[in-house]
This record gives sequence, C-alpha cells and structure tokens, in this order.
Amino acid sequence: ATAVAAAAAAAANAAPGVPSRAGTLEALAVSAWFGSRKVLEQVSLTMPAGRVTALIGPSGCGKSTFLRTLNRMHELIPGASLAGEVLLDGTDVYDPARRLTDARRDIGMVFQKPNPFPAMSIYDNVLAGLKLTGTRAGRAEKDQLVEECLTKAGLWREVADRLRQPGGALSGGQQQRLCIARSLAIRPRVLLMDEPCSALDPTSTRRIEQTIRELAHEVTIVIVTHNMQQAARVSDSCAFFLAEHGTPGAIVEHGPTAAMFGHPADPRTADYVNGRF
Ligand code: ADP
Ligand code: MG
Repeated sequence: ATAVAAAAAAAANAAPGVPSRAGTLEALAVSAWFGSRKVLEQVSLTMPAGRVTALIGPSGCGKSTFLRTLNRMHELIPGASLAGEVLLDGTDVYDPARRLTDARRDIGMVFQKPNPFPAMSIYDNVLAGLKLTGTRAGRAEKDQLVEECLTKAGLWREVADRLRQPGGALSGGQQQRLCIARSLAIRPRVLLMDEPCSALDPTSTRRIEQTIRELAHEVTIVIVTHNMQQAARVSDSCAFFLAEHGTPGAIVEHGPTAAMFGHPADPRTADYVNGRF
C-alpha cells in the first residue's frame, strides 16, 4: 500500500496541470534601475511550482538583474531601485513586515562561479546556510541533512568518505553541486540559478542538468542560460528577454519550451533560438 501511495504521489507530481506543491513565484510589472538608468521594463512572469523556467536572451538584457529582483538581492546594490511586485505563493516577497532572511530562506540562489567556502569542510559547507537563518539542529539531524542534500545534488557517492575535506579541494563541477546542496539545506521553495554551468566542462554540465530535472519535483527552478541546447533540455518553459537599441530589458515572448523552440511567435525569438544573433 505504501508503494502504491508513493507511486501515486510521484505520478501526481509529474502530471501536467496545476502542480500540487508550493513554490509558485510571480513577477508583476517588475522594473529595475541602476541609478537613473532603467534596465528592466515591466517584466511579468509566472514561474510555476515544480517546474523549470529558463530565462534566455543576449548578454546585457537584464536576466541576472531580474533574477536578483526575485530574491531581494537587487536592493543590496548601491544606487539600485525597483518597482513592481514579486509574489511567492501569493505572499509579497517585498512586504516590509517580512524579514529579509525569510525571503532568502524561501528563495535560494546558485551563481555562475561555484562559491563554496574553500577552507570549510564539505560537511560544514552544506550546513553553512543554517547558521545564517538561525536554524538549530542536533548532530544526527545534521548528518541526515548533509546526506540528503548531497544525494539530491548528485554528489553524495563521490564525497561520502571524505566529508571532512575542504570544499575547495573538489573539482569545479563538484563544487557547483556542493553549492546546490548548500542551497537545498535551508529547504527553499525556489532555487534561482544564474548560468550555473557556464564555468563547467560538458560532463559536469550534463550532471548538473540531470540534477536540475530531478530537483524540479520538489523545488521550483528558475535558470538563466545562454546555452540554447541546455534551455531545451532542462526547462518546461522559457522566457526570452531582449534589450533592443538601448531600451530596458523586457520579455519578448514566453511559453512552453517546445513551442518557443518549435514555432516561436516572434521573429526575434526565432532568430535568437536559431543562433542568428
Ligand atoms: P544579463 O544577465 O542579461 O547579461 P544584467 O542583468 O547583468 O544582464 O545587466 C543588465 C544591464 O544592467 C546591463 O546593461 C548591465 O550593464 C547593467 N548592470 C548590471 N549590473 C549593474 C550594476 N551593478 N551597476 C550598474 N549597471 C549594472
Ligand atoms: Mg547575467
């Protein structure tokens, strides 16, 4: 009976339509500035729970900036400002009554360059976020969490016998998976990934792509990538950003990945996904 229930739960999770779990992120008319320069114009996008959304578009069109507006990192940049709303499961991420650490706990981030704490052990790297969010856990609980998160990040088998070694001793691809494990340890509802494979070799890239697909069942993923094959392989839906002729970045088109690549509605999308600029 347990196996049947588990299979049904898995099937419900994988079924199309309304996802059963939390983690839907919605941007409503988000604009962003650096000083007086507007770099994002009224970007609205729903990033559904349990799905992978890819943000694509040429360099400088505001993809990273958009990602930073979603978890309140944009506001930390001196001179930066924004307008619009970001809702996580209907709750305002920018609600002044909400603490910044709560937004951070709910929405994790993985960067282009793997950034584990190099001198800290693999074990402690996974748990590093717990200190920041003030979560307390006993030894057995920590051991279990480390194994669980490293397993989900696809790294457990490679490091299980050397958890006390420094994070900096791992290869680039392993370091990036360690960073994914570290993000997962604070149990985010959403994971933002800004070109997470750009600094990695093709083999590491494929392993991370596989990890992303597996994680999507439990955490909403928003990934910026300039690799069209990667967007096609990992994402359920895509948003194409463009900043034309010095105008602020905006979404030209968004939709299911198969449609965006198969029969894009806008000729600029067709040009971009076919590598014509
Ligand atoms: P993308 O990730 O799509 O390459 P970005 O979001 O990094 O684009 O950049 C969008 C625009 O904002 C670019 O014109 C870039 O030069 C500018 N920009 C990005 N970060 C900063 C910053 N910290 N200060 C000023 N301008 C910035
Ligand atoms: Mg960027």
